[in-house]
Amino acid sequence: DDPGNVKVVVRCRAFLRREREKGTQCLIRMDPATNKTTLHAPLEDEENANASRRVYEDKEFTFDKSFWSHDESDPHYAHQEDVYRSFGEEFLDHNFNGYHTCIFAYGQTGSGKSYTMMGSPENPGLIPRTCEELFERIRDEPTPNTSYHVQVSYFEVYNEHVRDLLVPRTALPNYLKIRDSPKDGVYVQGLTEVEVKGYSDVERLFKLGDLSRTTASTKMNDTSSRSHAVFTIRLKQITHSLLSDETIERTARMRLVDLAGSERAKSTEATGQRLKEGGQINKSLTTLGRVIAALSDPKRQNAKGRRPREVVPYRDSVLTWLLRDSLGGNSKTAMVACIAPADYDETLSTLRYADQAKKIRTRASVNQDCMS
Ligand code: ADP
Ligand code: MG
Repeated sequence: DDPGNVKVVVRCRAFLRREREKGTQCLIRMDPATNKTTLHAPLEDEENANASRRVYEDKEFTFDKSFWSHDESDPHYAHQEDVYRSFGEEFLDHNFNGYHTCIFAYGQTGSGKSYTMMGSPENPGLIPRTCEELFERIRDEPTPNTSYHVQVSYFEVYNEHVRDLLVPRTALPNYLKIRDSPKDGVYVQGLTEVEVKGYSDVERLFKLGDLSRTTASTKMNDTSSRSHAVFTIRLKQITHSLLSDETIERTARMRLVDLAGSERAKSTEATGQRLKEGGQINKSLTTLGRVIAALSDPKRQNAKGRRPREVVPYRDSVLTWLLRDSLGGNSKTAMVACIAPADYDETLSTLRYADQAKKIRTRASVNQDCMS
């Protein structure tokens, strides 16, 4: 076993056009030398001061890495490439060594989760960069006597239902069931897993999946802020040793998760259909919060480092049940906390969440079978 803490990084995006036009004030400072992120109290305008007697304070946090993507003219500006080089690459190394990994993006809607995970054609994010490099390594630095098999799946969790993003949308919703087997753990039954031979295959698939996600969003009032998208790559390496005449199979799974907007975790001010949708999305996000709280509580980790399994409420939501391994088990896991530059309350809540996630320890082991 290789125990280690969840790696937590934070990334602050640039102003959007409307924020810049309003002359919005940036509340975030990052110190690249210490990886400290400071959230500053907003200057109170009179209107605010009268409306609420709230006291804002400066808050400081330290993460494994602070990515400053706010101001492109800054020498410390973090490009998509920098984010990938900083830990995406390392996580791909883990996969080639046979470890499962998971990277998830957390943050309010509009904070840069999808930009960080998927990005745009001009500025590709972690998912395309990881896939591209995966195939480059297989092509350029293969292990001798090894065959490689790569499979991809893509699904979303919406309203506590799992939907396959790699099949065309049908008139009737095609929700998939979750199963738990002693051998394979928790899995989605009937999920499309496509064998891919090269980067262009994967690219086609994640475009297909994103299209399926966005098509729904125009009809159903911004699905992407309400759904969790899980992109999974499975890398199987079969090595035949000529010396020992053994065949060794290593399977690693990498999960890349774009979570629903964290503002959905709050249960207030929802009505009607929105109450239903919001309420159910709350369930996966609030349960994720409870799972993180349980896993990060030092009291739950006794001297042997073992945790009583039943106290972690994985099974209370679809997302946490599916991500059980990635959150508290056999996986090397990272969280990217995405923050907007000018939203004190949401940013504070995201940074606190991230701060708690830092305390989680997982125990990854190499997933290897000797076939002969
Ligand atoms: P989310 O997925 O969290 O709702 P998005 O990734 O869609 O947020 O980002 C919101 C907007 O901000 C998009 O227009 C996106 O292109 C832009 N954006 C986010 N992060 C960055 C960044 N680091 N650099 C440039 N633009 C960004
Ligand atoms: Mg998004």
